[in-house]
Amino acid sequence: MGGWWVKWAAINDALYWRVLRANPELMRRVIRLASENVNSGGGGPFAALIVKDGAVVAEGVNTVFASNDPTAHAEVNAIRKACAALGGFALRGCEIYTSSEPCPMCLAAIYWAHLDTIYFGNGCEDAARAGFDDAYIFRQLSLERAKRAIPSEQLLRDEALESFRLWEASPFKREY
Ligand SMILES: [Zn+2]
Repeated sequence: MGGWWVKWAAINDALYWRVLRANPELMRRVIRLASENVNSGGGGPFAALIVKDGAVVAEGVNTVFASNDPTAHAEVNAIRKACAALGGFALRGCEIYTSSEPCPMCLAAIYWAHLDTIYFGNGCEDAARAGFDDAYIFRQLSLERAKRAIPSEQLLRDEALESFRLWEASPFKREY
């Protein structure tokens, strides 16, 4: 008895705490950073903050133009800085504030980093209207491999499996 109720209560409790912890001042700070990034010409109109226990651990802005790096999105830059600051490759217990809903690459990076919560300002549709490909890439990912715009083909799987076999037995193997 009470199984579903306990689950429901736990989910509601989690939502309650998330909403309670959301800090509009931090969102205003990333929005301001994103606008400053436009004016400085370093990259797109994006910024992100990583927060742990209410304190900002790292700030990142989009530096695609400045670094000629198509992966230098605000969230990825912030994750790299936060990991360097905290000395680890996981950000459990941290939250990310981002001026725009994470694109597929950044969303995946957020999963790899094991961040707890995402707060975003602009939505994916707003980014699409501003000329960014987020929504297009999300749709591409939902297609079967053969139907995607960029073709991909598997080659030499048997030989490639060698590195996985080595990993299984490696003393350097770590969960991430
Ligand atoms: Zn991104």
